[in-house]
Amino acid sequence: MSLQFKIADLTPAPQHHTAMLATAWCAERAGDVYTACAAELPVALKVSKAAEVIEISGMASGRFGFACSRCAEPAELTVRAEFEHRFVGPGQLDAGDGEVDAFDADPDVSEHDGVHVLLDDLLIELLLIELPAVPLCSEQCLGLCTQCGTNFNQQRCTCQPKADRVSPWASLASITVADKPVA
Ligand SMILES: [Zn+2]
Ligand SMILES: [Zn+2]
Repeated sequence: MSLQFKIADLTPAPQHHTAMLATAWCAERAGDVYTACAAELPVALKVSKAAEVIEISGMASGRFGFACSRCAEPAELTVRAEFEHRFVGPGQLDAGDGEVDAFDADPDVSEHDGVHVLLDDLLIELLLIELPAVPLCSEQCLGLCTQCGTNFNQQRCTCQPKADRVSPWASLASITVADKPVA
């Protein structure tokens, strides 16, 4: 079920709501990286209406699982997205009149359809922004050996650095410089 409010039900006095955001989007929108740890995420919202403008603020949070980008071990993280958003009436944004007003340029403003405000896409975008593109099990994760796959967080291996990795300056080590007495 989508997360939406009927505009006729809203009032100038703020209403407080708690709702659940379905995480079915996660497989599609968070791609191969994240899986949602629960089927729904709790959302706390404050909603008010002044003329045609709907103001919504609140917080969504959720726990997501992923495979560490360095060591591939499963890990989880919790993200929180706090937001303030305004929905203006249909046709209010970028009306094609060549005038860009304050609403047009503001990413926290979008249009409602005159009947409902739909929150799913907005909240999903806000949560996706909070999810790191390269998630790690820990900032200190040591990753895997590129040769034998040993997880360096758990143990060491005996692989030697590859020959092509030898420093171009290595041969300098064999040069001996005669000590000259200081005059
Ligand atoms: Zn890791
Ligand atoms: Zn190794």
